[in-house]
Amino acid sequence: MAVPKRRNSKARGRLRRTHYVPIVPSLRKCRECGAPHLSHAICPVCGKYKSRMVIDYAKALRDKAEKEKEKKGGGA
Ligand SMILES: [Zn+2]
Repeated sequence: MAVPKRRNSKARGRLRRTHYVPIVPSLRKCRECGAPHLSHAICPVCGKYKSRMVIDYAKALRDKAEKEKEKKGGGA
């Protein structure tokens, strides 16, 4: 079995670890609501991208409530 010829010095290990940098996502403020969101991505709060409605969360919630209501009414 291969065995390392000599142990790495403290400096070598530390030099290697200088490249261990945490990746911090670049957050941008939403133009509409000001909430932080990933750049080039839909705002998770208002569902808009470049001030354009992409996901209508309010409508989705309404639709969900309606569906549940329907389900309840049909079952009972
Ligand atoms: Zn927003």
